[in-house]
Amino acid sequence: MCPNGKEFHFLYTQAVKNNKYGRREEVYQCEDCSNCPHKENCTKSEGNRTIRLNQELTGYHQEVLNNLNSTKGALLRMNRSIQAEGAFGTIKWNRDYKRARRKGLKGVIFELSLISCGFNLHKYHLKKLTLLSAA
Ligand code: SF4
Repeated sequence: MCPNGKEFHFLYTQAVKNNKYGRREEVYQCEDCSNCPHKENCTKSEGNRTIRLNQELTGYHQEVLNNLNSTKGALLRMNRSIQAEGAFGTIKWNRDYKRARRKGLKGVIFELSLISCGFNLHKYHLKKLTLLSAA
């Protein structure tokens, strides 16, 4: 339904332009845009407005939203923001580590392991200093 209360009707499906995965989209057309007070802001077309929808993509979006809004999703998001994002932000932003220098999966895993060890050692050192100064 559009803001004027008109229905959109299915016309045809077509291939999405420049999509190398063969994705298709559905084209819908408004039943009647003549004499519509919103037409100037709604469409530039002379006739009825057409819209393109990709049901498959819309389905994936809905699945993602459902996952994010579920109890498990909310807990996972909270956990991620507590555990990973802080450390990740410190490494990336505060220490200006934006890009892995090594190539290949093994090299990148090795490099990130070293970065993580350094991060944890620094954290341990700061905690020790804090405890020493408090005592
Ligand atoms: S122009 Fe057509 S699609 Fe847009 S609000 Fe009016 S009737 Fe609906």
